Amino acid sequence: MKCMNIPIKDITSEVTCSTCQACCCHLEVMIITDTGVPDNHITYDKWGGQTMLRLDDGWCSALDRDTLMCSIYENRPLICREFEMASSECKSERAVHGIIP
Ligand code: SF4
Ligand code: SF4
Repeated sequence: MKCMNIPIKDITSEVTCSTCQACCCHLEVMIITDTGVPDNHITYDKWGGQTMLRLDDGWCSALDRDTLMCSIYENRPLICREFEMASSECKSERAVHGIIP
């Protein structure tokens, strides 16, 4: 039988959220526009600045720990909306948490 030379895509080297551990949800996320983030997920500094609350495990409190999905996806902050999968920031956050690439 003739061997066909079909290129095989190596999905193990793809940078996608499905091969991640929500690494970017460890970052400090400032809330700079009103997207309707529920107040129980917000922490305030002494000047009234708002950031996403992070819990002792380092993750944002809005992250569902079982699914590693955002539990407030429709209301997530602007910074989360603009964080690009496979960007250099994404890859560097993955590297910090030992997920290469
Ligand atoms: S760090 Fe990148 S790959 Fe991981 S969850 Fe965030 S956007 Fe997705
Ligand atoms: S709001 Fe959602 S996307 Fe943004 S850091 Fe928290 S869990 Fe992640």
